[in-house]
Amino acid sequence: LGGRCVMEAVEIEKALERLASEIVQQPVDPHLLALVGIHTGGVYLAKRLERIISDKFHLSIPVGTLDINLYRDDWTRLHTQPIVRATEFPFPIDDREVVLVDDVLFTGRTIRAALNAIMDYGRPKHIQVAVLVDRGHRELPICGQFIGLEIKTGPEEQVNVLLKEKDGVDRVIIESP
Ligand code: 5GP
Ligand code: MG
Repeated sequence: LGGRCVMEAVEIEKALERLASEIVQQPVDPHLLALVGIHTGGVYLAKRLERIISDKFHLSIPVGTLDINLYRDDWTRLHTQPIVRATEFPFPIDDREVVLVDDVLFTGRTIRAALNAIMDYGRPKHIQVAVLVDRGHRELPICGQFIGLEIKTGPEEQVNVLLKEKDGVDRVIIESP
């Protein structure tokens, strides 16, 4: 099968370690941090970041989850509005330093929906975005503050993010139609 590998397991691990360090070492009170993973991929990555932060920095950071999807689960359909399906914040969101975590940042519409959902719950102090892959093609004024890999993709290409938790292997592959 076609596709070019842009991250192997070691690169993903190094990227997550760097993101964890950047998240903790930025000039905010680390005790106010909370990670919010976006549905499948982002939830696994948020949990991995939480583990690295706990191991390396001895900080315990709460992890929440948001399920945001396009109708019919088809994220390749552009110009469709993402909808929020379920949220779980096991902590008060007020005055938190929230870091949204997702696998791929593309148009920015999922993050926009996540911002709305979070702000329905309270008033966070600050919201930032961490993603494993920024593939470009933004349609909104949204960006990631913590980025594992920035890569130019064609609009028709797909970034296949394989993660141990769901695929048994860690790898990022760019696939062309
Ligand atoms: P956006 O809302 O920014 O257009 O797309 C981001 C969301 O759709 C993320 O939750 C991400 O998981 C998914 N997504 C968008 N493009 C891709 C892609 O090329 N590969 C993967 N695996 N997910 C993508
Ligand atoms: Mg997703």
